[in-house]
Amino acid sequence: MNQARIAIIGGGVSGLYAAYLLQSQGISDYVLLEARERLGGRVLSVGLTGTGEALTDDTNRFDLGPSWFWPDYQPQLDTLIAGLGLERFAQPTQGDMLIERAGVSPARTPAYFSSPASVRLLGGMTALVDALAAGVNPDNVRTGQTVRSIHASEQHLQVECESLDGMRESWAVEKVLLAAPPRLLAQDVEFLPPLPLSVVQQWRNTSTWMAPHAKYVAVFESAFWNETGLSGQARSAVGPMVEIHDATSPGGHAALFGFIGVPASTREAMSKEHLQAMCRAHLVRLFGPEASKPVAEFLKDWAQDPLTSVAQDLLDGGQHPISLDASIDSYHWTGRLIGVGSEWSPQFPGYIAGAIESAAIGVNGQGLIG
Ligand SMILES: Cc1cc2nc3c(=O)[nH]c(=O)nc-3n(C[C@H](O)[C@H](O)[C@H](O)COP(=O)(O)OP(=O)(O)OC[C@H]3O[C@@H](n4cnc5c(N)ncnc54)[C@H](O)[C@@H]3O)c2cc1C
Repeated sequence: MNQARIAIIGGGVSGLYAAYLLQSQGISDYVLLEARERLGGRVLSVGLTGTGEALTDDTNRFDLGPSWFWPDYQPQLDTLIAGLGLERFAQPTQGDMLIERAGVSPARTPAYFSSPASVRLLGGMTALVDALAAGVNPDNVRTGQTVRSIHASEQHLQVECESLDGMRESWAVEKVLLAAPPRLLAQDVEFLPPLPLSVVQQWRNTSTWMAPHAKYVAVFESAFWNETGLSGQARSAVGPMVEIHDATSPGGHAALFGFIGVPASTREAMSKEHLQAMCRAHLVRLFGPEASKPVAEFLKDWAQDPLTSVAQDLLDGGQHPISLDASIDSYHWTGRLIGVGSEWSPQFPGYIAGAIESAAIGVNGQGLIG
């Protein structure tokens, strides 16, 4: 059996930041276990040719997961981003916004300015994941390792995981940091002895933020919408997209993205190509025929990703999570199992800032250091 002092389950922003904090405080006796072959979790930025391309071109990365953070409101995240040397820029909002209602032509209105201001990262939100991963020893990171069970004994916690080719491996650790959505853990990981029912119920009742959503991105040669004084922002009661924004990065190709309003259960029965064609037609309706020929387009349906979403996420509509108790107070588990995923954040549950906050609380506040 492999041994480490701490196992981190999940290599999204929260798990990576926990590893980064341990590493930066001189603790190297940990392992990060991530089920996917990539790091980042709900953070996913793609290059022009789609997922898998080496993302070397900072100006042409498009976010299929989170795009924004709010520095005035989330100073801890802003300080981290500045410290990592990452560049941020304001979400473009110059020009008018379109409002589309059934049966009438889209109406123009001044663009909506987020207050506090929303900003994006040059290189997409993946730039944050890459910067955190660069601060972590790659030997401590195991991707393609799905945690199946955690057994608590007097001596240690035994974490069992399975590789993509079905090989089992176990780790004996003192503590486990849970850096994945609680609802997913409640469904997929066996805890022995079982967790108290109240804890399991709390986890099952916690929506995974944005899990039922899907995002469409279309990349163009130029921001033709700006030429007619439009910002690229739109709200639609017709669909398939409900909210559209400019996704251009400074110096990069022009792009638009939209949140798809077709319910997850309906999307399940639609092909990706069909849904993309509907989104493209929507952009043509709003912004004109130039929108019919994107140089690239992407669609990511998070509801169909089993490492983000469970069936309940599609049913309850994805309410904003209410933060949970991070420590499990139960005989075998007390002080040994700590929730650090974003949904455990006291201030920003569900957000990137929440992933940072709960990881910092988990690492600094739970006696892991020293
Ligand atoms: C479409 C979309 C838009 C969003 N927009 C924004 C935004 O603009 N601003 C913002 O602040 N937030 C936004 N969010 C939310 C943001 O993405 C999350 O708050 C953040 O990424 C959560 O990080 P996390 O590490 O807590 O969880 P995750 O990113 O979900 O990471 C959990 C990791 O655990 C892994 N895992 C799961 N089960 C296991 C297992 N059994 N064994 C091993 N590994 C496992 C998963 O593969 C995953 O990598 C958005 C999310 C989505 C999907």
